[in-house]
Amino acid sequence: KIMTRMGDQALPYIEKGDFVKCVHTLGAPLQPGEQDVKWPCNQEKYITHFPEERLVISYGSGYGGNALLGKKCFALRIASVMANEEGWLAEHMLIMGVESPEKKKTYIAASFPSACGKTNFAMLIPPKAMDGWKITTVGDDIAWIHKGNDGRLYAINPESGYFGVAPGTNAKTNPNAIASIKANTIFTNVGITPDGDVWWEGLTDTPPEGVIAWNGKPWDKTSGKPVAHPNARFTAPASQNPAIDDNWENAGGVPIAAFIFGGRRSTAVPLVYQAFNWNFGVYLASTMGSEMTAAAFGEIGKTRRDPFAMLPFAGYHMGDYFNHWLQFGRTIPNPPRIFGVNWFRKDENGKFVWPGFGENMRVLKWIVERANGRAVSIEGPIGWMPRYEDIDWKGMEGFTEAKFHNVMSIDRDEWMSEILSHEELFIKLYDRLPKEMLNVRDLILSSLWRSPEHWEI
Ligand code: GDP
Ligand code: MN
Repeated sequence: KIMTRMGDQALPYIEKGDFVKCVHTLGAPLQPGEQDVKWPCNQEKYITHFPEERLVISYGSGYGGNALLGKKCFALRIASVMANEEGWLAEHMLIMGVESPEKKKTYIAASFPSACGKTNFAMLIPPKAMDGWKITTVGDDIAWIHKGNDGRLYAINPESGYFGVAPGTNAKTNPNAIASIKANTIFTNVGITPDGDVWWEGLTDTPPEGVIAWNGKPWDKTSGKPVAHPNARFTAPASQNPAIDDNWENAGGVPIAAFIFGGRRSTAVPLVYQAFNWNFGVYLASTMGSEMTAAAFGEIGKTRRDPFAMLPFAGYHMGDYFNHWLQFGRTIPNPPRIFGVNWFRKDENGKFVWPGFGENMRVLKWIVERANGRAVSIEGPIGWMPRYEDIDWKGMEGFTEAKFHNVMSIDRDEWMSEILSHEELFIKLYDRLPKEMLNVRDLILSSLWRSPEHWEI
């Protein structure tokens, strides 16, 4: 009920018979004595999608991603197949409004793999010194994007709530999320305080005395284990977000001026760059990677390619998906600009070089100005890049040009191995890989061999 529009609102459409059928069950009830072995999930889980039949059958998992079938199952996996057939896009993207001091609003859609900052970015609060800039949230996870009659792209958020990661969420990093979860919220796998409130790592500096851990047992502070499960979640109505956009329920959608793609990369990928054109942008998004933070996905620290942050969510072949994006761009007279970002570059001590969160507004300002045909950039080997003086540093003067260089530099050797690792993805998609990918790869290689003084920032 929190995550989707249901009941009376949906019935008229269902009566027409044209809808995606979804069924979910936790499966057979546990037998006495089985609780400890099988709780909280059944061992056997089947999250099955039937794109041709527009059907989802989900068995055995109570995790929101597998149980809230309107979310990843329908709105991404089934919808991406419908979008491919019908000429639109179903994407793993947040949608935000960016209002300038002159009150001009620009809408942006951004695609970051899971746990790479979508919810935080969608609710960003600009630094105090950037007076007059304001962010509004349309959505924090999924965008359905259609071509409008005016040739622009329009995006809607098909959801009505936030299913967000709790650990790390606090009044400093994301005040809008904290305000959104003040009431009418379901918490899963969080800690419980003696007075019945919730707690997770990062909510406050120290765990409260007598806290019950996520597994229902009193938390043992000597265990070294967290109070809340790292994937503990809140489920809250979007309408409670103080920064909700006026148009968030506008069925016509909001016009998208730019797409942003970004993963978690401690090296190689700069803070921000703009793809030279749509084809370069599709390459940028197709080769997006993120370093693993949870063992569930493989070796921690290793870069996992996650094209368009859609690898777990595209309902059809990834090569065909790239082609759909390329073809989609050919049919739009003035397609949105495409940008790459990386909030997660680290120094030699393993510390983040970029402060992130609210400060990301500085990068966003440059992006919005570029998308609106303003702001200066220079031609780097992988795209257009801002110089130090092209970013608004008001209130952040301590971030020197040398530090900027640390987050923006492009190292030829690093990019050689980066391109080899793109190749590993391309080989997997061999028989359906659009030839544009190989052409763009060659053009990037060619620019990497330009003498560094032409592009070193
Ligand atoms: P989502 O799963 O894509 O919605 O990601 P979230 O917004 O829930 O964020 C995932 C994790 O990334 C959280 O631990 C955040 O604190 C962290 N995060 C988000 N934005 C930033 C940022 O700009 N810089 C850094 N260093 N961490 C961030
Ligand atoms: Mn999220």
